[in-house]
This record gives sequence, C-alpha cells and structure tokens, in this order.
Amino acid sequence: MNETVETAPIPVRHRCDALVCGGGPAGCAAALAARREGLDVLLVESRGQLGGTGTSGLVTHWLGGRSGGGREWAVGGIFRSLSEEAAALGIARLPVDSDYPTKYQPHGWFRGLLEGVPFEPAGMAAFLDRKMEEAGVRVLLDTQAVQTVVRDGRITHVILANKDGLTAVAPDVVIDATGDADIAARAGCRVAVGRDGDGLMAAASLEFLMDGIDEEALGAYIHEHDTPRFRREIAQLREEGVWNFPYDIMIAVETDRPGTMMINTTRLCDVDGTSAASVSDGLRRGRREVMELAKILCGRFPGFSKARVKAVAPMLGVRETRRIVGRKVLGVEDLVSGRQFPDVIGFSAYGWDLPDPKRPSAQPMAERRVAIPKWVPIPYFVMLPDPVENLICPGRAISVERDVLGPLRVMAPCMAMGEAAGAAASLAPSGSFADVDTAALRSLLRSRGAIVDIPQ
Ligand SMILES: Cc1cc2nc3c(=O)[nH]c(=O)nc-3n(C[C@H](O)[C@H](O)[C@H](O)COP(=O)(O)OP(=O)(O)OC[C@H]3O[C@@H](n4cnc5c(N)ncnc54)[C@H](O)[C@@H]3O)c2cc1C
Repeated sequence: MNETVETAPIPVRHRCDALVCGGGPAGCAAALAARREGLDVLLVESRGQLGGTGTSGLVTHWLGGRSGGGREWAVGGIFRSLSEEAAALGIARLPVDSDYPTKYQPHGWFRGLLEGVPFEPAGMAAFLDRKMEEAGVRVLLDTQAVQTVVRDGRITHVILANKDGLTAVAPDVVIDATGDADIAARAGCRVAVGRDGDGLMAAASLEFLMDGIDEEALGAYIHEHDTPRFRREIAQLREEGVWNFPYDIMIAVETDRPGTMMINTTRLCDVDGTSAASVSDGLRRGRREVMELAKILCGRFPGFSKARVKAVAPMLGVRETRRIVGRKVLGVEDLVSGRQFPDVIGFSAYGWDLPDPKRPSAQPMAERRVAIPKWVPIPYFVMLPDPVENLICPGRAISVERDVLGPLRVMAPCMAMGEAAGAAASLAPSGSFADVDTAALRSLLRSRGAIVDIPQ
C-alpha cells in the first residue's frame, strides 16, 4: 500500500541531554553511565520493564563478562557492580568453577557457560528500576521510539508513541540501544541485515522457564551418557516421530536457583525481528512450540517428570536484525589475527555463537574451528553509525561483520558498550560522537572501574 496520511503536529514534551532508546543491557548501562557523568538522561523502553532480552525475553544469564572459571572479570564497571550487588541481594549468582567439581555444569552444561551470571528476572527488573531511580535517570516504560527528525546531519527530535499518544523529545544526543538500530535506520543511517547474499538471520527463540526439575537426575543422566545437548536422544525421538522441530539440541540452563531452568531450545526460523507481522507470527509459533516441547520434556527427558512451565517470555528472543554500517566495520579477520585497536572500550570473554539461519543447531564458525582470542576487543568505532553525528549505537546492532556478533552480542559486552556510549555522551564535542577523544574516553572508563586494557 502506498497511501500516506498527514498527522496533527506532534507536541514536544521532553528535553534532555541524552535520550537512550531501549532499556536492555546496553541501554541501562548507557543511561547509568551518562547520568553518572552529570547528564540529564531520559530512557525510553517499549516494554513494561527494564532489562531487555534478559528480563522480558527470559534469557536469564548474563554471559561474556567473566572468564577463568568465573574467577576473573572481563567486563568491569557497571556490569560488574550490578552483578555483585544483585548477587548480594540474592537475585543473581556468581558461581565459580570450583563449586562444580564435575565436567558438566547446570549453567548450560558446558564449562564456559558457568562463567555467566544467572539471575531471577522479576527481581532483576525491580532492581534495575531502583538503580535508575537512585541515579536520577528519568524512565518512560511502555514507550516506543518510532521516528526521528533529522536536520543537517543531526537528530533534532525523536517521536515517541505511548499512552500519551505521539509526543516528541528534543535531545542533544541519542543513544540507540534498541538492539535493532531502529533509530539509526529511521534517521537514514546505513544498515545491513542478516547474512551476506541472502539476508537471512539466525533463528529467533521463545524462551521459557520450567520449575520442579530434578536437576540431580538430569545432571546424572548427562554425565553418565556424556550428552550435554541430548543430540542422540533427540535423533531417537525424531525417528519415533515425537520430535518434529527443525533443531536437534535441548538446552536447559539453571537460573538463580536449582530446579528452575531457562529452556533455551525453540528455534524459529525465518523470523524478521524488524517486521511487526513477522514478530507476531514468531510469538504465536513460539508459544505453540513451547507447549509441545514442554510436554515432550516432561514425558521423555530425565528429571522433567514433575516439571511445569513457570513462565513464557512475553518478548520474542531475537538474535540478530539490523547492524549499522559505520565508516569502519570490525571483521572476523581482525579478531582472528589478534589485531590491536587504540580505541578499545571493553572486551568480551565469549566465543563464536551465531547459529546458521537454516540449520539452527549448527554453529558455522565452530564447525570451521576458527580460533578466537580469549579477550575479544571492542573498539569504540563499532558503535558509530554513518552519517548522523549525534547518534551512537551500543549493543547488538553494531558495525561488525555478522559472525563478529557471536562474541559481542551477549549481554555483558553489550553493557560494556552501553557504559562507553553513555560516558562518550559526556565527552562528545558539540554532540558529535565521531569526534570523541578516545584516549580521554578510555581514561574516564578506567577511572570508573571498566576494563579497557587486557590485565597483565
Ligand atoms: C534466544 C536468545 C538466547 C540468548 N542467550 C544469551 C545468554 O545466555 N547470555 C547472554 O548474555 N546473551 C544471550 N543472548 C544475547 C543477548 O540476550 C542479546 O544479544 C542482548 O540482550 C542484546 O542487548 P541489547 O541491549 O543490545 O538489546 P536487547 O536486550 O534486545 O534490549 C533492547 C531493548 O530495547 C527495547 N526496544 C526495542 N526497540 C525499541 C524502540 N524502538 N523504542 C524503545 N525501546 C525499544 C526492547 O524492548 C528491549 O528492552 C541471547 C539472545 C537470544 C535471542
């Protein structure tokens, strides 16, 4: 349909130094960091709670920020302090290797996944509310940023949609932490979508929590049969006609408490997270699949006979959509060759992880055995869109080759990027993020406890 309509003039209701769009890991860290540097910050989030995919998507496990069996921090600053405070409050855990003397661990059953921070999602959302309140960040929930007004290469206004109708905010700078580069795309910045050639994106997932799981029985079976992903068992179920899903793995990850697990198993191919119709279809397909899967788990998987579905995510888990295409793009070869960057603002301690769009149980980079450094550097430039000056884009929509999303899209590195973006907002001359003195930014981040140098 090519029809258009004129709307009534949109009232400008808010002014701020920094507008943060999206309250996921990147956006929350960005808002806290910008406020810490004295900026007046407005954070708008389209869901009813903060935390993004972690809380609304029920991906209850921050990865990529710890290594060395959980004893070392690869992401410091806001990520580390939120993790430690949440753990002290009893809504998160900081497990270390030595707690788990056996080969497989309930945090995804592989050792590397033990280096995450599992948390309780409702408690985390309330905790993030409190952190924003204490910091003095203004927050609008149930508020979507839907359009931009751009003049002379700068965003002058962002249009919001919520119970007030359409209103505008006039910010000095904008931090696009929507994960989908919504603001960058609407402001006319260059973006890429999905895989080169066919544009296909990794499958989406609808996450759910199950409680009443006998983890001892589940763990004992996994250890005895050396089967952390249940590939053999699923092949058998497929032969019997019980398992008809397009994936061949089952992933159950412990939350903050034993017996309750996040089931990260559904894989919904051909979902486009930037299309309302496609997301709606993904949610419907996902919910149907969750119910079918839960029934199979309870009937056929060890430890699940008394389990039940505790919660299904209200938000679809989308692994990738748009990536900004900045003047520079971080490539796989940059990581493989161990290239050094002068503008590093953080690291990820996570590996390649972006499933093939058509083979959702397959990890192409792992299959090709591509090496990855222990400390994956995150240069500042990956967050700079082209050509809008007063816009920065931390989180999973950064300027990287698609496979580089693997290590960088997990939540701790997203927080490192958010923290750097928020701090950069206070250093951007005339609001131009490309002109930030990155040595000064690194020094500011270092002084705030962020890790911007590989520990010697
Ligand atoms: C199924 C699945 C499993 C995963 N497993 C893990 C894991 O175990 N551990 C891990 O660390 N990472 C995992 N990831 C990756 C990780 O969750 C995401 O890549 C990460 O959350 C990205 O952070 P973000 O802040 O960029 O975006 P998001 O977490 O997606 O947050 C973006 C926020 O912006 C809001 N938003 C979007 N558009 C707008 C708009 N226009 N206006 C206002 N608000 C808007 C959204 O509602 C959301 O709250 C997983 C991802 C998926 C999908």
